[in-house]
Amino acid sequence: MTKNESPLFDRVALIGVGLIGASLGLVMKREGLAGHVVGCARSQATLDKALELGIVDEAVADPAAAVKDADLVMLCTPVGAFAAAAAAMAEHLKPGAIVSDVGSVKQAVIADLTPLLPEGVHLVPGHPIAGTEHSGPQAGFADLFKGRWCILTPPEGADAGAVEKLSHLWTRAGMEVEIMDAEHHDVVLAVTSHLPHLIAYTIVGTAFDLEESIMPEVFKFAAGGFRDFTRIAASDPVMWRDIFLKNSDAVLDMLSCFTADLDTLKHAIRQGDGKTLEDLFTRTRAIRKGVVEAHQD
Ligand code: NAP
Repeated sequence: MTKNESPLFDRVALIGVGLIGASLGLVMKREGLAGHVVGCARSQATLDKALELGIVDEAVADPAAAVKDADLVMLCTPVGAFAAAAAAMAEHLKPGAIVSDVGSVKQAVIADLTPLLPEGVHLVPGHPIAGTEHSGPQAGFADLFKGRWCILTPPEGADAGAVEKLSHLWTRAGMEVEIMDAEHHDVVLAVTSHLPHLIAYTIVGTAFDLEESIMPEVFKFAAGGFRDFTRIAASDPVMWRDIFLKNSDAVLDMLSCFTADLDTLKHAIRQGDGKTLEDLFTRTRAIRKGVVEAHQD
């Protein structure tokens, strides 16, 4: 489609205009994907910033007003706020509207939203796997999604046309789209994203609790690996609280595997078993090579 053709959606409502919502608003504008974009957030400061940065055409605090006549409603708040937003907007949704989201957890989102949405509205949950540790509308940029994956988890019986339109939207935002079962998504993301964040939060918290005599050196020599953990552990606290609470089963399963493996390493170190350590580190080095080759570094 060229910019002279009609937009993919006439009217889009972004419920939440932080890092992800703002980036989506900006890329939709750049690519001519939406005729009119309405942003919704709780605070006037967020709404003003979204307007000032040209992320949205209109900004309102009330989800019911935001979704009026919208062809696409994209939930971009922390996942714990989705149900309340859906309840507030449900009876104001246009028949045939697509409701989607960018949440990092998918089974809980489907469970929360399905009972609230009226007949004739199409739910197509999604998760663009792209982000930074920054938050708010000012953190958004149109190229955030470029070259990354977007996972869509349409529930059984989802409208094929709606899924196709959503795929098209994310493709035009620069992403590669993969359709996946929500349960599988949650397990995969528990390994690739949720557990690493939990580990980073733990390590940085542990360092923070160290004796005062060590703290200055921790900051001074942070480049020795700790720095990368501090970047991850600077991610939004509310967003990550919600992710762990909403994907608790998969995260707890992965955490059990992780602590068992950690015990093995602890035992190897205590026993002076260098072979176990070297074998693992050789395997993990090969995994890093695979990640780089998949252009996900
Ligand atoms: P963010 O930068 O903190 O933005 C959140 C937005 O939602 C803000 O506009 C905020 O504005 C609004 N908001 C927060 N709570 C709300 C509520 N209860 N009701 C209405 N609006 C509310 O967060 P983000 O990084 O864009 O993340 C948004 C979603 O994307 C999350 O569900 C997350 O799981 C998912 N995600 C994030 C990343 C990432 O790396 N950050 C990557 C992929 C997916 P007000 O505070 O003014 O209300």
